[in-house]
Amino acid sequence: MTNFDILRKNLENNGFAVSTFATAEQAADYLVEKLAGKGIAHGGSMTLDQMGLLDRLEQTSTLYRHRPGADPAASMGAPVFICSVNGLAETGEIINIDGACNRVSSTMFGREEVYLVVGKNKIAPDYDAALWRARNIAAPLNAKRLNRKTPCAVKGDKCYNCNSPERICRALTVLWKKPMTIKHAEVILIDQDLGC
Ligand code: SF4
Repeated sequence: MTNFDILRKNLENNGFAVSTFATAEQAADYLVEKLAGKGIAHGGSMTLDQMGLLDRLEQTSTLYRHRPGADPAASMGAPVFICSVNGLAETGEIINIDGACNRVSSTMFGREEVYLVVGKNKIAPDYDAALWRARNIAAPLNAKRLNRKTPCAVKGDKCYNCNSPERICRALTVLWKKPMTIKHAEVILIDQDLGC
């Protein structure tokens, strides 16, 4: 099992609760039990899809399923928000890039509880490396997956800081500390590669 001790300490020092799991299945078991009966919104996430988490939450919670073309505002009243991140620095900074920005805004304001589910492949040694990862690994792979007409989607190799109308990178957020009005923010660390 990866030693998450330094990352845990830094995240806890920033006001986040931290839970660690060896497998995605164990993490999903934990979240399904913890969130049973609650109203949940979520961000688009390969991590959550690979875990099969949304299908399970749909059975036990009121899940506002985010589908392509759906109005993100429909889930604004849900008190719980769950998503992944694009880069997580071992020094504690949490980085996300978004296009519609419903995902990044929900990690910062308007929810009572926020859960950030992170596979070990998203972890980088420091802020600069996590930022580089978010921009040059996560975003191009997401653009490719979404079939966007952007230079990065052709090869999925790096960010070209494009001016494409289909650019998916419209905002970058860094969570330094737990946002003030979020009552409970928890990082779920999983010792597996998940998402991109
Ligand atoms: S800014 Fe453009 S080129 Fe860079 S990752 Fe985003 S969509 Fe791709």
